[in-house]
Amino acid sequence: ADHMKNKILVIGSINQDMVVFAPRHPQPGETILGQDFQMFPGGKGANQAVAAARLGGNVQMIGCVGQDAIGKELLQNLELNKVEISKIKKAAAPTGTALITVAGDGQNSIVVVPGANAMLTTDDIDKLSTEIQSAKIVVLQLEIPLEVVRHAIDVAYQNKVLTILNPAPAAKIPAETLSKVTYLIPNESELSLLSGLPTNSDLEIQKAANRIFKMGCQQMVLTRGKSGAFYLSPQHKIFAPAFAVPAVDTTAAGDAFIGSFGVALAGGFALQTALTRASAAGALAVTKAGAQSSLPTKEELDAFLSKHPKSLS
Ligand code: ADP
Repeated sequence: ADHMKNKILVIGSINQDMVVFAPRHPQPGETILGQDFQMFPGGKGANQAVAAARLGGNVQMIGCVGQDAIGKELLQNLELNKVEISKIKKAAAPTGTALITVAGDGQNSIVVVPGANAMLTTDDIDKLSTEIQSAKIVVLQLEIPLEVVRHAIDVAYQNKVLTILNPAPAAKIPAETLSKVTYLIPNESELSLLSGLPTNSDLEIQKAANRIFKMGCQQMVLTRGKSGAFYLSPQHKIFAPAFAVPAVDTTAAGDAFIGSFGVALAGGFALQTALTRASAAGALAVTKAGAQSSLPTKEELDAFLSKHPKSLS
């Protein structure tokens, strides 16, 4: 069907973030009283799927949750955000969780349990290969097993389906995979880890990017927080300046950026426009607290862009 040609398929993690607020971190063996507890839907995969769906994308997600109440809740949340969930696997493992302790001094300590996210297999990808074939673009991160990410990229590559790889959390990736990705979208620290080189200045960044291009990567979008983003290829360099906004919470800026970039590409926008729309979504996300709660809608993005015409260059 024609509408299927715009499909954005996110293959990635689905987590519940559980946040306790305490005056300080407990010592090993100690019990202390905290002030508050909150739960938030998270996981980079789910965040990017929701980011793209809020922006009007036709989004399907492949991932894995547990057969538990939290998994059910997370699927409901995706559905509420208009993400197609029928191919999400349910495994005999706990749904992925991040246990976050926010201490009075602002220092967070976090335990992430991948749980069901780790149960996604290359066999699952083979069984769902038609879902990849019918996608316009596949979006991946590194919170599911690397072999699954690599296999999904292989399948997309064989079928000439575009791919976006956000190499987060930072990890090394084999050159063979980098060479098949359409757009690698790292931040500075992820680029540093990928390349094995520092990324503290423009010159260092260029050298690190060149190293990645030598490994076969063809196009990269490097995000640099309030310093904006760069599209880089062996031949081209396009700067996408950040929009000046009051930053409240930078959580999920990258997820908003990637979701927006994917929607723009799937919608047939030119690269320059896609970069602008991605930068605007990233900027909007930092003006609000939280992860998914801060992701803008298409209406919010369009309103923001019409008010900030200067950066539309
Ligand atoms: P990540 O969250 O993955 O580290 P970044 O912090 O680089 O990603 O943010 C992604 C993009 O979001 C940036 O390239 C930029 O366009 C936008 N962005 C991030 N922080 C800000 C900010 N403080 N002000 C304006 N735009 C921002």
